[in-house]
Amino acid sequence: MKKNLYFMVGPTEIPDRVLHSMNKQIISHRSEEYYEIQDNLTKNLKKIFKTKKDVLTLTCSGTGAMESVIHNCFSPGDEVVVPVIGEFSERYAIIAKKLGLAVKTIKFDLGENAKFYKVMEEVSDNTKGVLVVHNESATGVFNDLKEFGKALKDTEALLICDSVSGLGGLEIKMDEWNVDVVFTSSQKALMSPPGLGFVALSDKAWDVVKKTKSSSFYFDFEEALKFNRLKQTPWTPAISLVIGANEATNMIMEEGIDNVYKRHKLNSKMVIKGIKNLGLSMFPKDEKYASPTVNTINAPNISRDIVSKLKEKNIIVSGGQGHLGHDTFRIGTMGYVTEKDVAALLYMIKKILIKL
Ligand SMILES: *Cc1c(COP(=O)(O)O)cnc(C)c1O
Repeated sequence: MKKNLYFMVGPTEIPDRVLHSMNKQIISHRSEEYYEIQDNLTKNLKKIFKTKKDVLTLTCSGTGAMESVIHNCFSPGDEVVVPVIGEFSERYAIIAKKLGLAVKTIKFDLGENAKFYKVMEEVSDNTKGVLVVHNESATGVFNDLKEFGKALKDTEALLICDSVSGLGGLEIKMDEWNVDVVFTSSQKALMSPPGLGFVALSDKAWDVVKKTKSSSFYFDFEEALKFNRLKQTPWTPAISLVIGANEATNMIMEEGIDNVYKRHKLNSKMVIKGIKNLGLSMFPKDEKYASPTVNTINAPNISRDIVSKLKEKNIIVSGGQGHLGHDTFRIGTMGYVTEKDVAALLYMIKKILIKL
């Protein structure tokens, strides 16, 4: 008999209710029926982003959203600062370079968060943007966006935030914290299939977008905004995924976004405590910045065994990323995960460790 338990770090488990919502004949994206769905999704997302601004829906993965922001907010030659704390923040620097920006990277040791005061040392009058990952999915460390928001508020630079593995699991208060651009994608804490990106911009960022003129046709934010006000997208969106994301965000609204954040915190605390009780340690150097959505665990030489033995028991966790693969594994407490699931997981890890 098979019953899977999922602790993935993206894509994550999709609740049955969301799966069922998508299982129907396609509708036109130029129909009242669709407008209602997109409108409701946008309203839900605003509450999750904690913003009064429009939230745009793009048909692309998280990386597409990363790229779209650069096309709309910057021009080749513009100087941006990127604190690198792992593979995803590194990816943002690579994308920015590829699109012709002058990129200053500041590397922090793996397992550390980006210290805003060190990053600010590299910010000058020429800096057009600071690209900060909210939650680094490789190392399981999050950054303190509030500090970055305070530090950059009265500068020309835009604070751009990749919250792909954060939003919906790790609290963000976009407006209150003065974050200029926040983007995420559908397949992580938002419990939906991969394929959608969501992005919101502050007034400061919209002023820049209007002056910049998008270098991408498909990802033109001004077009997207025009259509968003009509409860539509400029081009055919992934309609089925919009329907699924709408249902998933309805579930988040029913639970209450602050309760959702509490559940993520409790589940990850339970993982951290349980893991330490079993004699393993956490990868993040300072537990204060240990992510509530991605728990990266040190298990030198045995991480791959743990992942495969759990799989034999139909429990799916994620391996370590890149060169961390040999010595770490990752437990996603992201999205559709309950306390009961975590208890079962810890019990099974204990059994496996005894055998190993
Ligand atoms: C998953 C992830 C992305 C990119 O996601 P794709 O959807 O695979 O393109 C970007 N940033 C972070 C922090 C992520 O966790």
